[in-house]
Amino acid sequence: TTATSQEFIGKENRFGARNYAPVPVVVDHAKDCIVWDVEGREYIDMMSAYSAVSHGHLHPRVVAAAQRQLEKVAVTSRAYHGTALGPFLEKLCEMTGFERALPMTTGAEGVETAIKCARRWGNRVKGIVDGQAEILVARGNFHGRTSTIIGFSTEDEYRDGFGPFAGGFKHFDFGDMASVRAATTANTCAVLIEPIQGEAGVVVPPRGFFKQLREWCTQNNVLLITDEIQSGLGRTGKLFAFEHEGIRPDGLILGKALGGGVMAVSAFLADARVMDVFSPGSHGSTFGGNALAAAVGLEALKVIEDEKLVERSARLGEQLLSGLRGVMEDSRGLIRAVRGRGLWVGVDLNPELASGREMIERLAARGVLSKDTHETVIRFAPPLTISEQLIEDAIGIFRQVVNEK
Ligand code: PLP
Repeated sequence: TTATSQEFIGKENRFGARNYAPVPVVVDHAKDCIVWDVEGREYIDMMSAYSAVSHGHLHPRVVAAAQRQLEKVAVTSRAYHGTALGPFLEKLCEMTGFERALPMTTGAEGVETAIKCARRWGNRVKGIVDGQAEILVARGNFHGRTSTIIGFSTEDEYRDGFGPFAGGFKHFDFGDMASVRAATTANTCAVLIEPIQGEAGVVVPPRGFFKQLREWCTQNNVLLITDEIQSGLGRTGKLFAFEHEGIRPDGLILGKALGGGVMAVSAFLADARVMDVFSPGSHGSTFGGNALAAAVGLEALKVIEDEKLVERSARLGEQLLSGLRGVMEDSRGLIRAVRGRGLWVGVDLNPELASGREMIERLAARGVLSKDTHETVIRFAPPLTISEQLIEDAIGIFRQVVNEK
């Protein structure tokens, strides 16, 4: 006899740490934008693992690249050179326009790499006393879960009981230049920021903010580092979200979709004048840039180009946004706002009428996977490979769930 969803959920609950509260869907397998559970029920994936599955599940080219590499070598550590890493770094630099790339595995490690680079640049290049460097971060930020990173989160839930925290971070209000100016000192080495705040609820800054921020950073000899782990690689309808404002950061962090939906691959990118503060022995990671990750990352980047996933995200993003706005208009006040860029949309609910959790569970029961954040926001971020028809289907199901309330 085959095990049921309840049995798998039971095992996770019995043997797993209790740091997640998943929706009661037990995924058995998936292909592109469709996910199947243990009982064979079908779901449209409107979440794509927070952008990690932008290529769709098990993209044939990414899987083939992984299989080819698995015939050769997977992990060597960076103690030696290899045939996969150089071509991956070359492609990363070519597509981002930066001179150097430093590969890591998870997003949080990419952010830690950026923090170390910014501080050492502050010390070696800007002349800030070692230990005095300050990094400005936005209120409502989400950059990962390491103890340094949660130390500058403004969410109690992420921090509570986990102190003491590392110093050297100061807050400003996302989208507000006056608060950036007020937080800047002679010891500021960098501004670390998401172009659009994902976990905060797909918060889009006011137009012009990033242009002004770029100018401010240049004037004050401060590095502008954008965390595009969630927003990058086509999610917002541009290859990188910073392009919406015609600016270029000094440092860029990528993750999630860089692994093509099959494994964890992240990277920090910068020009030599910044990146070359790292010297042998000053930073590293056993799995960062391993041969399998490099082969997968290279193919993931090529697929984004070859399949024109960025243009697709822009075009289908319009369809998703206008469809959801239509649902909002007929929602009798249940939906307060719909906002987003590309295939990345946040839907604000009226908390007196429904909770995000309740809505995503009802969506899941009808065959659409999404995710709530901060109790009152539902996020939709399907694979960039999704079809017009599946978007229409998902919007139709969302409309039913909204009408039932
Ligand atoms: N930065 C941003 C903007 C993210 O959205 C995330 C993950 O959600 C991270 C960093 C952390 O990435 P990871 O979970 O791979 O460590």
